[in-house]
Amino acid sequence: METANIVILGAGVVGLAVAAKLSERNEAVYVFEKNKRFGQETSSHNSGVIHSGIHYPKDSLKAKLCVKGNSMLYEICEKYRIPYKKLGKLTVAIEEEEMEELDKLMKMGKDNGVEGLKFLDREEVKTLEPNVEVEKALYSPSTGIVEPDELMNHFCAQIRNNKAIVATETEVADIRKTNLGYELSGISVGEKFTINAKTVINCAGLYSDKIAAMIGLDIDKLGYRLHYCKGDYFRVAGKPPVKMLIYPVPKGAGLGIHLTPDLSGAVRLGPNAYYVNNIDYNVESNEKEFREDVRRFLPSIEKNDIQIDSAGIRPKLQGPEDSFRDFVIKHEADKDLLGFVNLIGIESPGLTAAPAIGDFVSEIYENEIKR
Ligand SMILES: Cc1cc2nc3c(=O)[nH]c(=O)nc-3n(C[C@H](O)[C@H](O)[C@H](O)COP(=O)(O)OP(=O)(O)OC[C@H]3O[C@@H](n4cnc5c(N)ncnc54)[C@H](O)[C@@H]3O)c2cc1C
Repeated sequence: METANIVILGAGVVGLAVAAKLSERNEAVYVFEKNKRFGQETSSHNSGVIHSGIHYPKDSLKAKLCVKGNSMLYEICEKYRIPYKKLGKLTVAIEEEEMEELDKLMKMGKDNGVEGLKFLDREEVKTLEPNVEVEKALYSPSTGIVEPDELMNHFCAQIRNNKAIVATETEVADIRKTNLGYELSGISVGEKFTINAKTVINCAGLYSDKIAAMIGLDIDKLGYRLHYCKGDYFRVAGKPPVKMLIYPVPKGAGLGIHLTPDLSGAVRLGPNAYYVNNIDYNVESNEKEFREDVRRFLPSIEKNDIQIDSAGIRPKLQGPEDSFRDFVIKHEADKDLLGFVNLIGIESPGLTAAPAIGDFVSEIYENEIKR
């Protein structure tokens, strides 16, 4: 039977970033991915925003890894010529209570070390974005956009350079603890396989709670069970109405329906947020909800301007009635699972945080697992 040093489950942006980092200093690193290609799930169904870090409570992993990931991503994009744009973002307020929310975001951003934040009044917003009608906005200059597929391609190239392997069409269906580590089995390109691994890193996104259950963890008791929270997108046809990222103040499970230009300048609306039971990427919302939400700050938007686009599903630890939940990134040594690391609930800002998550998991590996 083959033996691996480290097996990473899932070739989304997080699994790939973790593998790229771990394979710099370690041999026999494998990434197993059930789909035919890397990055076909959440990592290619998102807004592609490089977040600044204003949305997460101080000292949370989301805050720390987002702020660190933001500057790492810009450096990576510059160094390896990955397409990106540092467009800047306006979070906008129209009603009185939204102004209070803006104050909270400003405080959280400052607590998290986000630089360059400032408030803009109606006229200052109009100078930057003539079509946007609001009372006040929080400007964050370090927010930008990146092409997620190009970023994942870059991590794959690093993995190949480090002589590690990304095995696609390889689905892990069972994991057993052994004296030496873990025995993983499943189907690879239509054939059954079994492999031993000293270390297993669970980066399986929407399926990461199922992987944790596979090794015998009680996901309900540990609070690891995921809730699927879907977000649909629509596209603005014709001339782009804005140049920057424009967000309302967040409410509910998502960040609110926002306007995100892509690298070509075309603008998407969304995502909204609603809980679902199954993983299915069809758009279920109608255009009206989107138009009405966005009309509050972009009155010029018309019915014919909006076309159906795509959907993504957030792997959320936070259920519909729950308050903030942080990323779980945990070496399960205290549960008699030495060398088993779970990454669960890696929703937004997981794309931004990916390179910082790579460093974080590598530190856990070097300090607690490597022997
Ligand atoms: C609507 C939406 C918008 C978002 N917008 C942003 C944004 O603008 N900025 C930002 O920073 N973040 C954003 N995010 C979050 C970001 O997209 C995710 O945090 C990130 O993509 C998660 O990556 P991942 O590698 O953990 O998961 P995934 O990309 O889902 O990868 C997990 C992989 O594991 C594989 N897998 C699962 N089970 C198995 C198995 N048994 N065997 C083998 N392989 C398996 C899957 O096939 C999958 O490819 C958004 C998310 C959503 C849903």
